Amino acid sequence: MATEAEIAWAAGLFEGEGCFSVWTGAHGRSYVRAQLGMKDGDVVERFAALAGAGKVRKRRTAHERWSPIFEWSTADSEAVRSLIVLLLPWLGERRAAKAREALEVLSHVQTAAKNRTHCAKGHPYDDDNTRIEGDGTYRWRRCRSCKRDYDQARHARAEAVSA
Ligand SMILES: [Zn+2]
Repeated sequence: MATEAEIAWAAGLFEGEGCFSVWTGAHGRSYVRAQLGMKDGDVVERFAALAGAGKVRKRRTAHERWSPIFEWSTADSEAVRSLIVLLLPWLGERRAAKAREALEVLSHVQTAAKNRTHCAKGHPYDDDNTRIEGDGTYRWRRCRSCKRDYDQARHARAEAVSA
């Protein structure tokens, strides 16, 4: 759990170097991404650890030929939502407005997820095939068939490696 000082530090950093973006992808599904980029890799890593999600990538751009940019981002809706809730009280007007817009989009994303009757692969979300995962705050459905396929594929890879 982040301390108040850490949260304020992260919010100040995000205010200067970060952004929330909202876009609509295929099938009209909306996504929200949080990203933050700067030259100081250690600072970006510290932010990533505090956010507890997402990935840090090292990029070179045309304008920054000699010094790479370290870019952290996540489009995981739960991670973005947690981050917004954490930072919102500290953000200035412009970013706070964008953050509220992102929360609004995320609430639709989650309603859509709850109303879905099948997983992305088309397995039914019925009693037998559905497992509830999560903690006290957030809970979501997990497809047992997909989980089984995933475990089998991982098992097969592990056997191929040890053979
Ligand atoms: Zn499935």
